[in-house]
Amino acid sequence: MTKYSDAFIQDMPKSDLHLHLDGSLRIPTLIEMAKKNNIKMPSYTEEGLRELVFKSTYANLGEYLHGFQYTCAALRDLENIERVAYELAIDNQNENVYYIEPRFAPQLMMDVEAGLTMETVMEATYKGFERAKKEHNNRPDVKAGTRPEFHYGIISCAMRNFGPKGYSPYYSRFYKTMEYSNHMEIVTAAALQMVKAVVKIRDEKNIPIVSIDLAGQEEGYPCAKFHEVYAYAHKNFMHKTVHAGEAYGAESIFQAITDCYADRIGHGYYLFEENKVVDPKISDKKKYINDLISFVADKRTTIEVCLTSNLQTNPEIKDIKNHNVKHMLANRMSLTICTDNRLVSDTTVSREFKLLVDNFEVPIKHLKDVVAYGFKKSFYPGNYIDKRNWAKNVMVYFDQVAKKHGVL
Ligand SMILES: [Zn+2]
Repeated sequence: MTKYSDAFIQDMPKSDLHLHLDGSLRIPTLIEMAKKNNIKMPSYTEEGLRELVFKSTYANLGEYLHGFQYTCAALRDLENIERVAYELAIDNQNENVYYIEPRFAPQLMMDVEAGLTMETVMEATYKGFERAKKEHNNRPDVKAGTRPEFHYGIISCAMRNFGPKGYSPYYSRFYKTMEYSNHMEIVTAAALQMVKAVVKIRDEKNIPIVSIDLAGQEEGYPCAKFHEVYAYAHKNFMHKTVHAGEAYGAESIFQAITDCYADRIGHGYYLFEENKVVDPKISDKKKYINDLISFVADKRTTIEVCLTSNLQTNPEIKDIKNHNVKHMLANRMSLTICTDNRLVSDTTVSREFKLLVDNFEVPIKHLKDVVAYGFKKSFYPGNYIDKRNWAKNVMVYFDQVAKKHGVL
C-alpha cells in the first residue's frame, strides 16, 4: 500500500467538483444564523448538533438528510447566503483546494415575496464566492506565480421530487399554481423553469453558472423524465452532471448519459452491480454492465466520488475497503474525489483523499491523474485556452509539492 503523509495530502493542490452549499456550512455560523433568524433547532451548541443532527455515522438516508431543513432555512436570507458562500470558498482555500463547483437548488432557498428570487439568490452566492476568489488571487505568492489561482463555477440543481408542503415557500406556491397537473408534470415543470432562469442569468449577469444537476430522491424519479430540461441546457452551452447510481442501478447512469447528455456522474456507485439492473429487457446483465463501464471509461465521463457520504447513506457497504472506487481505479476511469457535504458528512477534501490513499493502492502517477481530472474535467468558466493553461500550472505545482515531500 502506498503511504502518503497528512502533510503531503494537505499541501497537494486539490479540487472539489461535488459539494452542496447547503450541506457545507460551518457549525458556528449555522448556530449564529439560527439564533438571528429564529430557526428552531434541537440544539444551539456545536456539541449538541454533532450529537443529534450532524453525526459521523447515520442509520439511513433519511437521517442523513434531516439536517438540511435547518441549513436551508438559514439560507433563505441573502446576507446569510453570501456569507456561507464566502466561508465555503475560504475553508477550501485553507486546505489548498484551488477549484470548487458548489451546487445547490436555488428553488429550495427561494421565497419570491420575501425578495428571494432566482436572480437575488444567484447574485448573493456569486458575491460570496467572488470575494473569496479575489482575496486569494491578490495574494503576493499567487501574483508571483508560485501558488495556483483559485477559481469556481456554480452548479444549479433541480430537485427530482418536491411536494406541496415542507420543501420551500417557492415550491409550495409552485405546486399550488399547478394543481391540475400530475406530480411528475409539476416537478419537471419546476426544473424547466430553473434551467431557463439560470441560462438567462448566466448570459445577462455574467454569473459563472456552469452546469445543472439533478438531486434528491433517485428511486421513482428516473432522470430520463427530465430529458427536456437537460436538452435545454445542452443546447445553451451549459455543462451537465446528474446524481445517478447513488441509490439506483446502472440503468440510471445509462439514462444520465443517453437522455441527459451527462458530462459527469454524481456518485455512480452502482455502475458495477449486476443485481441492481432491473429492466427485464436487459437479458445479459453482465454484458450490459461491462459495455457501460467501457463506454463511460472511454468517453472519459467523470465520476464524482464521495467516499464518506456513500458509507453514511449506504449501510450495505459496511467497510471502506468494499467501496466500488476499487473497480473505478482498476478500470482506469476518470474520477475525482469530492466531499458531497462538508458539514453533514463531517469531512474535508483532504480527509477524502486520505481515505482513498490509505485504503486503496494508488501509486503517485495514478494519484496525479485523479488530481488532474479534478481540474481538466471541471466546468471551468472561461475559455478553453485559459482553462488549459491554468490546469497545466496546477499540475506543475503538484510536481513541486510532490518533490518537496519526497513522493516523486
Ligand atoms: Zn450530492
